Amino acid sequence: MAGQEQRRRRRIVLFPLPFQGHMNPMLQLATLLHGRGLAVTVLHTGFNAPDPTRHPAEFTFVPIHESFPAEVTSPGADIATQLLALNAACEAPFREALASLLLRGQDQDVACAVVDGQCYSALRAAHQLGVPALALRTDSAATFRSMLAYPRLRDAEERLEELVPDLEPLRARDLIRVDGSDTDALCGFIGSVADATRASASGIVINTFEGIEASELVKIQRELSRPAFAVGPLHLLSQAPAEQSLHAPDRGCLAWLDERPPRSVLYVSLGSVACVDRGVFEEMAWGLAGSGVPFLWVVRPGLVSGGGGGGGEEVPPLPDGFGKEIRSRGKIVSWAPQREVLAHAAIAAFWTHCGWNSTLESVCEGVPMLVQPCFADQLVNARYVTHGWGVGMEVGEEIERGRVAKAVTKLMVGDDAAQMRGRAYHLKMQASAATSLSIDCLVHYISSL
Ligand code: UDP
Repeated sequence: MAGQEQRRRRRIVLFPLPFQGHMNPMLQLATLLHGRGLAVTVLHTGFNAPDPTRHPAEFTFVPIHESFPAEVTSPGADIATQLLALNAACEAPFREALASLLLRGQDQDVACAVVDGQCYSALRAAHQLGVPALALRTDSAATFRSMLAYPRLRDAEERLEELVPDLEPLRARDLIRVDGSDTDALCGFIGSVADATRASASGIVINTFEGIEASELVKIQRELSRPAFAVGPLHLLSQAPAEQSLHAPDRGCLAWLDERPPRSVLYVSLGSVACVDRGVFEEMAWGLAGSGVPFLWVVRPGLVSGGGGGGGEEVPPLPDGFGKEIRSRGKIVSWAPQREVLAHAAIAAFWTHCGWNSTLESVCEGVPMLVQPCFADQLVNARYVTHGWGVGMEVGEEIERGRVAKAVTKLMVGDDAAQMRGRAYHLKMQASAATSLSIDCLVHYISSL
């Protein structure tokens, strides 16, 4: 009890990136640490600020008063440029906010800062103020390893199909890539993340679990000579409510699923950011039609690039004649309650872009995947799904209706499908056995800082 009291007075200061896929894991981690006696202050940007009413009343929320340029806030901004600008704009206001917390006396004894691992400027600032900083990775351990190795991999681009030594099963083509993005900006960003983590982080906290990334975790600890805590899957371990979703989920699809036989439906979603051109969208649609399987498809505003819906705010129109397919065995929604969908007995498989949250959510529900990575860490995650864990297959480099139909059928019916399903079930069991032991180790480590 005395130890508990002692820790109650120790405070952790969290700084999430202001995007849903980063904010949710950070606040889930906050809830777990708070449950173990640590006081929580969340420093946050005014842009996409978290909603304090969705979190325990004991959490303190403090805005840092940043001023973001348009590169950060405009939808569709180049990701590397956006993250570089965000880091530049956050450094001074984060430092001031943290410094003023440090001045506030004994009851505010700050044990450490937990900073989003992409926010290298805040990691640096915390370290410079003498506050031990932990980097929270909201992507996978494998992605983080590939970022640490990035500078030596730039020339691997010429050997796309070859396995990258020490990063197997990744090939050069699976390394982080953002087509159309400024390569120098991307390399500059990744280099800054790797340098700041090496120079300023006292430890790494990763939303993953041993069952899928044990060897990557060991390698990170060895490469950085500091602890790496696999605290995931955070959405399973933490009872924290998600931040307000980007779009209102259409819950009607759950009733629609209730009427479908067990393991019969393919769920299709490319997440919140990825977009495809009109031709690919139409091939996806007709491939789904040709496969003959029931499907639930998230067609959200902005999914189709270059119009196809009268602008980013409108849902793109479906191909002419596709309505007949939907009436017979499909359901289209503009946003789904994804975690509930993946947990539904009617779901057989998930056609996904392999964002890390979607990948983890699918793994945790034992749902095999058809992978269509679009950019960044999605390429790494997709390779692990297909060649690391054997719980999915590729839809193919070229999205063409005939190939799509074949891939969907192979994923859902026959021996290969049964084997993938078996392995996915095994991973689900491992995910559900993942305990909070790592969180306990993390709390112990924080008390030692
Ligand atoms: N999501 C959802 N409904 C949808 C599509 C996505 O709730 O219709 C959620 C999904 O459960 C996941 C997140 O949005 O938690 C997407 O995150 P991810 O890292 O997979 O991809 P991103 O959107 O960042 O590319």
